[in-house]
Amino acid sequence: MSLFSAVEMAPRDPILGLNEQFNADPNPKKVNLGVGVYFDDNGKLPLLQCVQAAEKAMMEKPAARGYLPIDGIAAYDNAVKALVFGADSNVVQSGRVATVQAIGGTGGLKIGADFLKKLNPSAKVLISDPSWENHRALFTNAGFDVGTYAYYDAATRSVDFDGMLADLRAATPGTIVVLHACCHNPTGYDLTPEQWEQVIPVVKERGLVPFLDMAYQGFGHGIREDGAVIGKFVAAGLNIFVSTSFSKSFSLYGERVGALSVVASDKEETARVLSQLKIVVRTNYSNPPTHGGAVVAAVLNDPELRALWEKELGEMRVRIKAMRQQLVDGLKAAGVQQDMSFITEQIGMFSYSGLSRDQMVRLREEFGVYGTDTGRMCVAALNSKNIGYVCESIARVM
Ligand code: PMP
Repeated sequence: MSLFSAVEMAPRDPILGLNEQFNADPNPKKVNLGVGVYFDDNGKLPLLQCVQAAEKAMMEKPAARGYLPIDGIAAYDNAVKALVFGADSNVVQSGRVATVQAIGGTGGLKIGADFLKKLNPSAKVLISDPSWENHRALFTNAGFDVGTYAYYDAATRSVDFDGMLADLRAATPGTIVVLHACCHNPTGYDLTPEQWEQVIPVVKERGLVPFLDMAYQGFGHGIREDGAVIGKFVAAGLNIFVSTSFSKSFSLYGERVGALSVVASDKEETARVLSQLKIVVRTNYSNPPTHGGAVVAAVLNDPELRALWEKELGEMRVRIKAMRQQLVDGLKAAGVQQDMSFITEQIGMFSYSGLSRDQMVRLREEFGVYGTDTGRMCVAALNSKNIGYVCESIARVM
């Protein structure tokens, strides 16, 4: 009898499992639209020039790798605060933001979840229906009871905004509400600025705890535009949580660069919150890794590299939008009767195509075109070479 006899096989991660299936597929025409990764027009994962320039400068002045402080590189945390809240913003100037460097956006979410669990062990968590699958798993593993608020309305291909407001109004005070700051994953449908203006008072009146997940800042309408929602929550006087990811915006997926920022009520409270976030980090992995944080800090804090980053991020954003348009045009040209123009109304890396599970399975099995069973496709993986084949394949299963 082994210690592990009763250990059950865990289900495969739905998206990473899809990747394995893709890698094993011998079809030479196969296209992976499953995982949320941006590829350039040659189908390559970009290594941004701003990152290369920062790394080159770092190589020229090699630095020893001591332990970082528990909350990470100070210049990094300050750059994150400036990016997310604005360097001159009142919250930052008055010392009301506690930011810790985290292991990707996932790490930021987990630090926040662990801190919140200690703060209010009986709180519930609400995530959007649907949401990034790991939201549910992560908060469940942190010990929370996770429910959903209405979000996507398949019939109208838009946000079920009335349903969302009703669910938020019905939530118990203290409930943690995970909100996608921009580029909703998986649907591609964001709230409009006017809709946010309606959500915020409900969150405030009901005493809910907003946790904004910002994994795609700069992929929607622009860095400032995508971040504007954070300023609205702050202006309402709310204590908020914001997780940041640079995986996509710096194409630094494997370096695991992210952050958690918490807005407290005054400087003294911020110091107490920060001290608790540091306990969470210390007892999980002690302190974050150096390289990714150093690269991002170097780029964000240098005016020239910063401008180069904004340009490169802008190019990724524009290319995704162009692929959305080409997808709509290509589907029409391939004979799809249905109006697919909703694809250009969606924003960010993903498109909820509206295809059924059966259609997605056929796409995979017969054509080697991989998306998730929910019909989600990563439009950031389309390019001028694969788009024709993808359009024809989709047309065949529709
Ligand atoms: N939140 C959302 C909504 C995401 O889509 C992702 C990445 N797929 C993350 C968080 C996690 O980002 P990271 O890879 O930096 O941990």
